[in-house]
Amino acid sequence: MRAEAAESLIRTFEHTRSSVEHHASQITATSTETVTLLRAARRVLAEPITADRDIPPFPRSTRDGYAVRSADIEDPPAKLKVIGEIKAGPSDQPRRLEPGEAYSIMTGAPVPDGADAVVMIEYTTQQAGIVEIVRTASCGENIVPQGAEAKSGSDLLNRGTLLNQSAIALAASVGKSQLRVFTRPSVAILTTGDEIVGVDQAPGPWQIRNSNSYSLAVQIQQAGGDALVLPIAPDEPRRLRELIEQGFQSDLLIMTGGVSIGRYDLVERVLGELNAEFFFTGAKIQPGRPVVFGRVLRDAGASAFEKARHKYFFGLPGNPVSTMVTFELFARPLLEALAGMRPRPLPFVQSRLKAEIRVKPGLTRFLPAILSGDYADSHVEAVSWQGSGDIAAQSRSNCYIVVPPDRECLSAGQWVTILLH
Ligand code: AMP
Ligand code: MG
Repeated sequence: MRAEAAESLIRTFEHTRSSVEHHASQITATSTETVTLLRAARRVLAEPITADRDIPPFPRSTRDGYAVRSADIEDPPAKLKVIGEIKAGPSDQPRRLEPGEAYSIMTGAPVPDGADAVVMIEYTTQQAGIVEIVRTASCGENIVPQGAEAKSGSDLLNRGTLLNQSAIALAASVGKSQLRVFTRPSVAILTTGDEIVGVDQAPGPWQIRNSNSYSLAVQIQQAGGDALVLPIAPDEPRRLRELIEQGFQSDLLIMTGGVSIGRYDLVERVLGELNAEFFFTGAKIQPGRPVVFGRVLRDAGASAFEKARHKYFFGLPGNPVSTMVTFELFARPLLEALAGMRPRPLPFVQSRLKAEIRVKPGLTRFLPAILSGDYADSHVEAVSWQGSGDIAAQSRSNCYIVVPPDRECLSAGQWVTILLH
């Protein structure tokens, strides 16, 4: 679809989001590398991890106390002969527990054969090799049976898992000191606009410092990509085209600015010249309405991705809050797919609104807001802002209140949907 048809490609939030999700689901990441566990945080697993033995490998005591036969203490108080002590770690193989006997046992230690319960030390007193127990115990109490957490050979983590601390701990627990992970996709950032200058330059009175490349670099990194910041493109088609071509050498191209309908908004025009296919050229949202998603046909060449004959691109609106919001809503799922991650839904949660919000209906709104309060009484309040250029207001917020397109008013005290960021 060529850029001339742009106006007809402005779609609802649901439509635009599912378009991105559809394309993300078509992507298969294939390029992998091996990293050590200490370098694996936030990488994406490219191999399944299985249990190399039963977990736990023996019936494990969950308490300090006495390993007993529950039948021996059915009628407390009961006196049992203490025949030894079992610690976690290297210890002599305990012998089998016979009727009338108990082992002193520590948390994490293997429960001996013959015992079917561990009585907490709090319910016992020991004197001269005899323990007195003042409570009954049910069969299995305070014992995790061998293999209860996972059987040897069973799947623990799937390909596509984002490696957080628990996934890495699980890998360590089955002896994986190195992990096969997907290579990070490279993402080119191209910011456009004659008024935009680098952060190190002294801006003239009408010039604006480039902040979008920096917020995007953070978001790209968080979504599993490697950011490459290209030079700032002027509002001039030849140089813009050169830089866009350069951007297509990366696995994904993200542009900011130049996508609204202004006379100098050239991004769509240049992409049209490159025979880009557009999936949408606007979303009925605020902030972020003039957001563009599409792809161009490219030679697979040295690309790390199977079927990567297509290079996807996003044209995000230049207003800094719009850039951040539209990255989260649209660019993130596609980038996560390129990074090998399994798709995941947006993290919508509910909270109670502190103060009324009035808006014009027709757009799905993502209003910067502050979620605060304690666990029993949280509430959310929109930050006062000067619109989608207001980075200072955005930086005070920790979430967005989502206002559905058919609502004019959200009242104080009502439950509202929020999107965390
Ligand atoms: P545009 O989408 O090009 O119409 O830009 C919308 C607004 O965002 C304008 O006020 C721009 O000056 C501003 N803007 C565009 N690019 C950036 C950038 N990289 N950093 C900060 N502000 C920007
Ligand atoms: Mg511009």
